[in-house]
Amino acid sequence: MRLVLLGPPGAGKGTQASAIVEKYNIPHISTGDIFRANIKEGTALGQEAKAYMDKGLLVPDELVVSIVKDRLLKDDCKEGFLLDGFPRTVKQAEALDSELDKMGIKLDRVININADPEILIERAVGRRICRECGATYHVKYNPPKVEGVCDKDGGELYQRDDDTEETVTTRINVYMEQTEPLIDYYKNQGLLLDVDGTKKIDEVFVDITSELDK
Ligand code: ADP
Ligand code: ADP
Repeated sequence: MRLVLLGPPGAGKGTQASAIVEKYNIPHISTGDIFRANIKEGTALGQEAKAYMDKGLLVPDELVVSIVKDRLLKDDCKEGFLLDGFPRTVKQAEALDSELDKMGIKLDRVININADPEILIERAVGRRICRECGATYHVKYNPPKVEGVCDKDGGELYQRDDDTEETVTTRINVYMEQTEPLIDYYKNQGLLLDVDGTKKIDEVFVDITSELDK
């Protein structure tokens, strides 16, 4: 299964992605996670990306596209993949289409998770992430068993630098300007699956997988 997850910051893409890749046994490709891993390792790519991420702006298309192209050529993507947070601009979507064309493959579905801005801000600001495994929690909606500690590996939970109310607001605006046009782009290709992201985590998962399993 070859999938893309679309949706504004805080909609629940990463949360659903973890469960989807487990069910279908495909790799989870999150461009945000790739950048955060590079920042943690102190690479040149990480330094360049951080300047944009801290402001809530998109990293330039060329940089993101080349990373994803390389990633899609890895062996584990042969049977499918889930792209989370990519593409985010029409340019990125066109680059992805041309790359998939070259590889002789096509996307199966584009899952679009919707939610209103007030919900998105509350979700993103309450988000906590494990430093070790990257698992995502929410202080209110998906709390760990012990505050500040990951259920899976006991890692420390942290808040992303860009999950402040101010930066999330910028990111939502950037999403509306630069990413929302992709909804029509994929609707026109007959690939779009709209999902109500305001429901509970488990319910959103059932809505997605019941469609994918049809
Ligand atoms: P995205 O990857 O789209 O930015 P995440 O999956 O990281 O979003 O979710 C943002 C925050 O909201 C996280 O703290 C997550 O635990 C929480 N969350 C995700 N889905 C839901 C939901 N359906 N209901 C309530 N909280 C949710
Ligand atoms: P969220 O799901 O909360 O929007 P992500 O982890 O997907 O967050 O992205 C965090 C930041 O990483 C974005 O605000 C942006 O700066 C950068 N980023 C991630 N993916 C892309 C992309 N496809 N194009 C440009 N910038 C990206």
